[in-house]
Amino acid sequence: MLSEKLLKAINTQIEHELFSSNLYLSMAAYFETKNLPGFAAWMRVQSDEERAHALKFFDYLHDVGAQAKIHALSEPPFEWSSALDVFEHVLTHEKKVTSLIHSLYEIALQDKDYAAQSMLKWFIDEQVEEEKNASLIVEQLKMLTDHRAIILHLDHRFGKRGAD
Ligand code: MG
Repeated sequence: MLSEKLLKAINTQIEHELFSSNLYLSMAAYFETKNLPGFAAWMRVQSDEERAHALKFFDYLHDVGAQAKIHALSEPPFEWSSALDVFEHVLTHEKKVTSLIHSLYEIALQDKDYAAQSMLKWFIDEQVEEEKNASLIVEQLKMLTDHRAIILHLDHRFGKRGAD
C-alpha cells in the first residue's frame, strides 16, 4: 500500500523528471544556436529519456491505484558559457536527482513498501549510468585547453545517439 508520504514524494519526482526534460531541451536549443547539431541531438534524446522517467513514475502510481498529480514547472536556464559549462551543469543536476531518488528509496524502506523499492531500484541503477556518462564527457572536455577539436569529434559522435 502506497503511503501518502511516498505518493507526495513521487508526484514531486515526476515534476523533477519533467523539469529535467525541459532543462535538456533548453540545452539542445543552446547547442542548435552554437552550430553543434550533434550535441543538440544528444540533448534531445536525453530530454526524451527524462520524460520517459516521469512517465515511468506516472504509470507506477496508477498501477498501484493512486493518481499522479502534475505540478507546474519552473523555467529552465537557457544560456551557458561553453559546452563544458553545460556538461558540468548536467553532472551537478544528475547528482541532485540521484539524491532525490535515494530519498524516495529511504521512504520506501521506512514504509516496508517492497513494490516501490523494486521499482526504485531501476532508477538507482539509471542514476549510476547518468552520472558516469556526464562525468566522462566533462573529463573529456577538460582534456584539451583548445576544446575545438574534441568538441567537433564529440558533435559527430553525439549526432549518432539513438541510431546504433
Ligand atoms: Mg531522470
